Amino acid sequence: MPLRIGLFGGTFDPPHVGHLVTAVNVRHALRLDLVYLMVANVPWQKAGTREITPAEARFAMVEAAVADVDGLEAGRLEIDHGGPSYTADTLADLSRMHPGSSLFTIVGDDAAAKFETWERYEEVAANSTLVVVDRPGEPVQLPRFPWVHVEVPHLEVSSTDLRNRWNDGRPLDYLVTEPVLQMIDRLQLYGDGA
Ligand code: ATP
Ligand code: MG
Repeated sequence: MPLRIGLFGGTFDPPHVGHLVTAVNVRHALRLDLVYLMVANVPWQKAGTREITPAEARFAMVEAAVADVDGLEAGRLEIDHGGPSYTADTLADLSRMHPGSSLFTIVGDDAAAKFETWERYEEVAANSTLVVVDRPGEPVQLPRFPWVHVEVPHLEVSSTDLRNRWNDGRPLDYLVTEPVLQMIDRLQLYGDGA
């Protein structure tokens, strides 16, 4: 049987319950063998707007978050590739690694709304099935490409909000996994949290 592989890309600065709940539920709903939480090397659409945590630290957090979870894997293809991260290239790498597999590109609706700004998005649409999950917030205009919807618990969490909470000294318990929280604390990724 050919593998069914999900590509869930993100900055993961930090990875949180919204990401993890999405990944396991999409995997279950679409019977995927594996979902990669693919850590963007240089998130080109975010670069210049704020300080981004070094890719290796974001990768370490994602690895820690998925360590005990069946079927989820931290992906470092984009980090190893270097330079800006384009989903079209990552899908090509994945199909070289897993010949004959079916690929699924998983996005929250905020990311899906911007799909047509992605580098070579037609290639992404041609080489994978676009999977969209709702995120709490304003309804957004979705792309004119075929996509499938997967219903996942709506968790009103974002990495931006979590970074702000940490900055204010508010707790992140249960919003990120315990190993991720320890890493944020130990490496002072978002300041000393005081
Ligand atoms: P930031 O606030 O820094 O943009 P984020 O929480 O949006 O962080 P990203 O790394 O930007 O996280 O997102 C990676 C992917 O995860 C995107 O497709 C995004 O839509 C999706 N995503 C993020 N948070 C959630 C959530 N709470 N529920 C569902 N999908 C989510
Ligand atoms: Mg985001």
